[in-house]
Amino acid sequence: MATRPFIADRLAPFATNIFTAINTLAAKHNAVSLSQGFPDFDGPDFVKQAAADAIFAHHNQYAPMSGVPALRQAIAARFGRDSGLPCDPDTQVTVTCGCTQALPSAVFGICNPGDEVILFEPFFDIHRSSIIMAGCTPVPVTLHRPPGSGRVTAPFTFRPEELAAAFTSKTRAILINTPHNPTGKVFTREELALIAELCIKHNVIAICDDVYERLLFDPALPHIHLATLPGMADRTITLSSLGKTFSLTGWKIGWAIAAPGLTLAVRAAHQFLTFSIATPLQHAAAVALNREAEYTPSLVQLLMANRDALADALGSLGFTYYFPPSGYFIIADHTSRGFADDFAFVEHIISRAGVAAIPCSAFYHHTELGRPLVRFAFCKKPETVAAGIDRLKALFKS
Ligand code: PMP
Repeated sequence: MATRPFIADRLAPFATNIFTAINTLAAKHNAVSLSQGFPDFDGPDFVKQAAADAIFAHHNQYAPMSGVPALRQAIAARFGRDSGLPCDPDTQVTVTCGCTQALPSAVFGICNPGDEVILFEPFFDIHRSSIIMAGCTPVPVTLHRPPGSGRVTAPFTFRPEELAAAFTSKTRAILINTPHNPTGKVFTREELALIAELCIKHNVIAICDDVYERLLFDPALPHIHLATLPGMADRTITLSSLGKTFSLTGWKIGWAIAAPGLTLAVRAAHQFLTFSIATPLQHAAAVALNREAEYTPSLVQLLMANRDALADALGSLGFTYYFPPSGYFIIADHTSRGFADDFAFVEHIISRAGVAAIPCSAFYHHTELGRPLVRFAFCKKPETVAAGIDRLKALFKS
């Protein structure tokens, strides 16, 4: 009998996710983790307390499919404050298992197999895998690396003609991630206006992944909701989550906000993926979102100080790096050190310095564009970042 591989053809190229591979190597060398994007500290006590209270207040059975009303109300009120758009918690908000599950819910809900979906590279890997699992074709548009050396503050940018050329009669959706992982790019109003114009012209739906929406370091670069641009409110699905904003990535509370018709599509998929999300954590998430000002500003201060420390260290070691105006990550160019590629460089710093980072080719369709680049996470305790810096300095200065 002919044997057949266990893994499906569409998933075979992505069998082992990059984070799993790096984490395994990092554990072997007891490395300081500046790799995966989660804090090594907890979110605020008042939110943890709210979760404990919810458990003891009997909120322990299945939640409604669309989410606990108190959380949907908090999400709708927050989105309304931020965007100025009306948002009905009953018909426009769906609570998901992190943004991770909001992404396939949105893509599966609106796309047919064979549709094309545009995404920007570098991308968060679940953007591409959601498209592929839906039987759709990912169409990458490159965010080009800005020129320069040392500290580069210019953003990664797409070429308008390349974006326009990506839209075809088969395009169903475009995925946008702003603020962006891994570059920290915050899409400008001009860039979003061009995306909006093309979406309207080609009757395309925009899926916006906004998980870093609060982690902004440059007042000149505010987060803009694509849904607020003219003509976009009815064709945008806005995704976000609690994880980054509250340093509670393990809670996996996320959401999708969209006009009622689009929300029906998202829920059509969501109901068969998880149906509903951890009930007590939803109650606590509502408390968190209603008291955001008590935590997020101090988190932003911490992240900025960490970014500055890591950036200065990379600069003092002679790396070119891309100074991020948002988020958890900083990208550096390792090529001055003479390694064959990003994996070789990362293996070297894990095994020789005990510092873990992520090779950026994993975030590209055109993998050669990522080979010169490595991503460091600074969403850690200051002492963790300092330990990573000391180890890198010891390796590269010797
Ligand atoms: N989108 C992006 C761009 C991310 O970086 C991440 C987490 N690394 C996610 C989505 C996943 O979000 P969540 O933890 O809410 O599932």
